[in-house]
Amino acid sequence: MIDMAVLQEINEQQRQAVTAPAGPVLVLAGAGSGKTRVLVQRLVYLVLTEQIAPSAILAVTFTNKAAAEMRERIENQLSKTSHHGTSDLWLGTFHGIAHRLLRRHTAEAGLGAGFQILDSDDQARLIRRVLRNLELDERRYPPKDLQHFINRHKDEGRRPGTLNDGIDPWQLQASRIYTAYENTCRTLNVVDFAELLLRTYELFQKNSALLEHYRERFQHILVDEFQDTNALQYNMLQLLAGPRGRLFLVGDDDQSIYGWRGARVENLQRFRQDYPRAELIRLEQNYRSTATILQAANALIRRNSGRLGKELWTSGPQGGAIRVYQAYNERDEAAFVVAELQRLYTQGLPRRQMAVLYRSNAQSRLLEERLLEHNVPYRVYGGMRFFERTEVKDALAYLRLATYAADDASFERIVNVPPRGIGNQTLELIRATARTTAQPLLATCRRLVEEHALSPRAAAAVGQFVSLLDTMRQRHADLDLGDRMALVIRDSGLEAHYAAQSDERAATRLENLGELVNATRTYCPPEGDPLDHFLAHAALEAGEGQGDAWEDCVQLMTLHAAKGLEFHAVFLVGLEEGLFPHQRAMEGGEMLEEERRLCYVGMTRAQCQLTLAYAEQRRINGLERIMTPSRFLGELPEQLLEPVRAAASWQRGARTRPNQGQQQSTPRAMPPARSSGSPASAKGSLRLGGQVRHPVFGEGTVTSIEGHGPDARIRVRFHQDKERWLLLRLAKLTTVA
Ligand code: ATP
Ligand code: MG
Repeated sequence: MIDMAVLQEINEQQRQAVTAPAGPVLVLAGAGSGKTRVLVQRLVYLVLTEQIAPSAILAVTFTNKAAAEMRERIENQLSKTSHHGTSDLWLGTFHGIAHRLLRRHTAEAGLGAGFQILDSDDQARLIRRVLRNLELDERRYPPKDLQHFINRHKDEGRRPGTLNDGIDPWQLQASRIYTAYENTCRTLNVVDFAELLLRTYELFQKNSALLEHYRERFQHILVDEFQDTNALQYNMLQLLAGPRGRLFLVGDDDQSIYGWRGARVENLQRFRQDYPRAELIRLEQNYRSTATILQAANALIRRNSGRLGKELWTSGPQGGAIRVYQAYNERDEAAFVVAELQRLYTQGLPRRQMAVLYRSNAQSRLLEERLLEHNVPYRVYGGMRFFERTEVKDALAYLRLATYAADDASFERIVNVPPRGIGNQTLELIRATARTTAQPLLATCRRLVEEHALSPRAAAAVGQFVSLLDTMRQRHADLDLGDRMALVIRDSGLEAHYAAQSDERAATRLENLGELVNATRTYCPPEGDPLDHFLAHAALEAGEGQGDAWEDCVQLMTLHAAKGLEFHAVFLVGLEEGLFPHQRAMEGGEMLEEERRLCYVGMTRAQCQLTLAYAEQRRINGLERIMTPSRFLGELPEQLLEPVRAAASWQRGARTRPNQGQQQSTPRAMPPARSSGSPASAKGSLRLGGQVRHPVFGEGTVTSIEGHGPDARIRVRFHQDKERWLLLRLAKLTTVA
């Protein structure tokens, strides 16, 4: 029986995709045509109508966030009409799924129990160490370049032994470094991101019984955003699907935006060659955007060559014109955008329905500043990555080292964090001894102390560090993950270290550490040891923004992070040559086409309103530059665009000449400062010993005022809190009579 609920609200082509017979299927369709929705419906259809157990389905998404959202949607639908849940469903990113498989088959994959994941920073650090061991010059072999070299080869499935033919001397040396790096990873029992995939692939290749087991198990494999899979991911899919080829892939060649990271849009063509009998379904009706937005996006992407070709259409409304704002400079641009966001909010649009998209991460800073200034709640997706923050990574490194004494990457990270006076010379001695004795760094420390091989001062510092970790390990034995984390943060001295600094940044770091404890306390591991899972979760999540999806915040993100999402109103900023398209892509060719696809992705995120902005001048690397509008603007049909005039409301203070720029940054929340508009009088209006109120910390007494203009700082002793330094410009203080 076909469950009608599943098939409601889908068009004929979508229905065809959802109910397609098992076997290779490719849904090739433009933005907003319902690909993700079809994938979800297909999964539900398989369970409810085809009676396929959720445990027999493997679904792959592009981000962990997308996986979580998808799981929720599926859960909702299944629970309505069946007893099925999603706990047995394998749903995640390629990396997440590979990790799960490797944890289950650790020994077969040639890894040691409790292997750890190296994130990108850890990997760079380890490469640096390998270079030191080989006595090679970092300037000639920059770790970042080597990291790229190693990861790219892994993404293509190549081990160092296979690289010897026809490569230049640099590459030859790089492939030796790759070998040494692999050996080090093996000794330390760590795997990097690319290794997760390669290991899993090799595991299946080598172990036919295991492969057969999973081929039997996964009767259906569903993949979203297929256009951004790399060579190895494709091979893995093919291997797992086996001769039955039960692959259900959805993708859009026009949205391939990760070529720079090894994604292969050719996989779409390759699939059609490898599975000539695959069913090809095209969806061209768009349900997301207005006709105007679609016409503009279609016109833009038509300029690219080698497309598989499709035109989106909609039966929905034409919608208003795409608005284009020519800003005087980057501050004006930010001011305009924030004023518009506020206007939309007062008109009743929830903030989560508004997004500001930009090409480079650094562009968020000014927007953030302006949003903060105006008290507009916002969230940066993919920018302020929680698990990438220094203090979070430090605390996790302690946890790892306390559990896995051989984790040298963690040792390197925290040996002097907070500073404990272990000098460079001592560290070099520790490293050299570890090298010659093939022992982990922490064990080497212990040995050097016991053998009195260090100066008394060094021995005291190193000895203290060793016993700190010993104590942690002993105390951890009976504690749950949350308590362990709390203990680590306290005993490591991280907490005291940040608490002793009284600026806002340190306060934020403390809050992050608190949040980390929250994260461990609320973490539910899927199976096995919670610590291993949590550490892996942290490493895997670091690549994505954290955030509470339910809070009503304006969404800030890079264009890359916006993939798959949709918003009522979208602001695409910084449309200037050299910024977008990016400097690297200016010469044309494939790089430029990828930038154009990125622009297409950005525009097609908008449901109803799309606003494009660019600045005439922009400060880049400290220099004021005259900018040229992006060529992408010129590629949009003029009749669909409408210039926006600067309104007085945001002009004031924002449209200033660069040499007046200081004034714009004067404190806004202090009434006297606003009326006089100069930093000096802002300071003058506050007096030492005066009373102020802060929206979070409450009332307090001013104990110090320092600095000028945007840097002016104020120190307040809060009655209900401690004494804090605040940036006057951001602090939202009001004076209390
Ligand atoms: P992208 O390429 O950006 O990932 P997509 O092809 O995955 O887009 P979806 O996100 O699945 O598209 O769908 C876009 C929007 O259209 C969603 O809000 C979805 O709920 C809606 N939608 C899709 N199909 C239909 C339909 N048949 N009827 C009504 N709404 C639909
Ligand atoms: Mg999608």
